[in-house]
Amino acid sequence: MRTHVDHVDGNALAGVLAEFMSADASTLTVTCRHCGLHGDLAEVVVERDDVGSIVRCHGCERTLLVILRDAGGGIRLRFEGAAEIASA
Ligand SMILES: [Zn+2]
Repeated sequence: MRTHVDHVDGNALAGVLAEFMSADASTLTVTCRHCGLHGDLAEVVVERDDVGSIVRCHGCERTLLVILRDAGGGIRLRFEGAAEIASA
């Protein structure tokens, strides 16, 4: 049970997000929102082209993530059917 909650702005996320984003992607796990399959991100099916990647669950084949690279070099990550991505 949470006994005390601080309300702060999004700058408070910088440390934990930097830590998460620096994790070795091959060690991450993913849970599918559609079929509930939980496993290594390395086991997913990726459809890739010059624009980006569509990441599909190897259990139900539905889309987990869409990763797009903008012409300007930015990267967009869209959570579709990924209920959770976790680091070790
Ligand atoms: Zn699935």
